[in-house]
Amino acid sequence: MTPLRAVKGMHDLLPADIHRWQDLESRFRATVQRYGFGEIRTPIVEPTQLFVRSIGASTDIVEKEMYSFHDKADKSLTLRPEGTASCVRAFLEHRMSGQQPTQRWYYLGPMYRRERPAKGRYRQFFQAGVEVFGDPGPYVDAEIVEMLVGFLEQVGVPNVSVAINSLGSGTTRERYRHALLEYLTPHREALSADSQRRLESNALRVLDSKAPQDQDIVREAPRISEYLEPDDAEHFRQFSECLVALDIPFVVEPRLVRGLDYYSRTLFEVRSDSDGLGAQNAICGGGRYDGLVETLGGPSTPAIGFALGIERVLMASRSAVAPQTADAFIISAQPELRTEALLVATELRNAGLHALADLRGTSVKSQMRRADKSGAGFAVILGTDERDRGVVQVKQLEDQGQQHEVPRHALATHLASKARM
Ligand code: ATP
Ligand code: MG
Repeated sequence: MTPLRAVKGMHDLLPADIHRWQDLESRFRATVQRYGFGEIRTPIVEPTQLFVRSIGASTDIVEKEMYSFHDKADKSLTLRPEGTASCVRAFLEHRMSGQQPTQRWYYLGPMYRRERPAKGRYRQFFQAGVEVFGDPGPYVDAEIVEMLVGFLEQVGVPNVSVAINSLGSGTTRERYRHALLEYLTPHREALSADSQRRLESNALRVLDSKAPQDQDIVREAPRISEYLEPDDAEHFRQFSECLVALDIPFVVEPRLVRGLDYYSRTLFEVRSDSDGLGAQNAICGGGRYDGLVETLGGPSTPAIGFALGIERVLMASRSAVAPQTADAFIISAQPELRTEALLVATELRNAGLHALADLRGTSVKSQMRRADKSGAGFAVILGTDERDRGVVQVKQLEDQGQQHEVPRHALATHLASKARM
């Protein structure tokens, strides 16, 4: 029988590699908690309609990337491709708008998109994100960009750059779409096949195209900034000014539109030129979605959020995170001392120390080799002679360290004082 393998584009995270993930996750939690965000955990499976109605039927995600299936009751369900739609659903379901004027939520978890797998592009990937409900901005927009940039710098992502734009609100997008269509249609034949298709379904997506032949055409396309209403232009001006005041470098990218239908006004993308990333240099996308709560049946509620790709942050990050190593490795000189070894290990663990033991009954030499390999600070050696005298041997494992006797009852205190050094 051929052994089963994980689904293409989905990966196991093994214990040896997980410490970088855990470090990143705990730093993310610590950062966003300082800004007043509370965690939300939503189901991984949602009604398919949630994503169709929020992300938009003619977006890449909904058109071709969703993992959708029918359950036994013939309901169409989908593995979430992103987090915002679920947050908005939960916001409505729990009638949060009536509770507090603003809500700040964060999430961490897996997302699913059936894309072509590549470096930095997977079918199951992890995002960390935030959403703010009830604040029309523009100051909160700058606040979350500042939080994001600070976090990325803290976790060692080099050369972070922020691109911003505004999509306007109300009729802006529609008027701009018309202007764009008018400009692109005469160039139709020169566009890539994908962009020709998008021309009909979602012309703004042509601006997102990475095909070189499209980029030459797109470069000369009209800019959305020329179509902003005065209110939107003022919002964008204040957002930019606030970033300057916070000392966050950014560039305005008039053709930044991003893939999802629900965005309005503020839009941003954060990239890094880290060698680790390759072609997939976008680390985080975010923006305002002032109309989405209403679209999904709730009261008009301004909102903004971002989502960052954890794999990409880890690929870009240059900081090393040392795995945690044990304080002590317990060695039993005779196999009959294994219960004693387990007792000592338990005692040390109860004292808050990190203790390992090899309880298979192998030779002292083999246990010593494992102790060395484990990276533990000390080996604690138990022998029948020592047991009778109420002592243990403690051997420092690093630097060819010395060995000395420690009374059994004082072992935990002894090791704890060493561990603190
Ligand atoms: P891209 O342009 O790279 O496809 P996107 O615009 O689809 O990104 P968003 O939907 O805004 O990305 O998701 C936010 C972040 O999630 C991205 O910046 C990226 O870091 C990460 N991300 C998105 N799709 C994937 C994927 N398939 N595999 C790994 N990370 C991803
Ligand atoms: Mg994408």
